[in-house]
Amino acid sequence: MRVLLIEDNVRLAGFVGLGLDKAGFTVDVMHTAADAQAALGATRYDVVVLDIGLPDVSGLSILTGLRERGDSIPVLVLSARDGIEDRVGALNRGADDYLLKPFAMEELVARLRALLRRPGDSLDSVLVRGNVAFDSTTREVRVGGEPVSLSRRERDALELLLRRFGKVVTKDAIEAAIYAFDDELSSNAIEVLIHRLRKRMMQAGATVHVHTLRGVGYLLSDRVP
Ligand code: CA
Repeated sequence: MRVLLIEDNVRLAGFVGLGLDKAGFTVDVMHTAADAQAALGATRYDVVVLDIGLPDVSGLSILTGLRERGDSIPVLVLSARDGIEDRVGALNRGADDYLLKPFAMEELVARLRALLRRPGDSLDSVLVRGNVAFDSTTREVRVGGEPVSLSRRERDALELLLRRFGKVVTKDAIEAAIYAFDDELSSNAIEVLIHRLRKRMMQAGATVHVHTLRGVGYLLSDRVP
């Protein structure tokens, strides 16, 4: 899941970015509204964490801009200001959640996970398909009850495929969910990643299979014997 973190305090942004990274999110960090707007124009994010007090323009104007363009991406607003007007103002402008600074990293992660439970996606924190179980909180993967060691990106790709089980997931969607803005990405990175994931799942004896739909994307389904 890909997060855009907009926070001008470089130290706090670094700390929060690291915490989100550890929690399994792919994070882009922007320190100004101008950079944030550029990132939002260039990339599809799953969720935005938005500081209200930014040096160039208020974070609220980024939020207003998103909603005026009809973009319904979930936005969690961060603010040191505890005035009820700020909170109500942000919510009225279309914020989905609000967290006061200082906050506990665990609470931010839990709130983001709640925001990301989209309709149509599986709601469970443990995703189970066939003999494959993926715990989206601990990031642990089990096949037939046995832990399987996957790389972080393989786990991220598997989570996405599990959440959209039986539906096509495009290569672009996988790329956007897994790789940050400044990641160097070869043209066949997703093919290679999915190939490795498929191989590991087969070796572990998974009863689900990652299908390639050439030119369209990937689809996870039960393995047909
Ligand atoms: Ca600030």
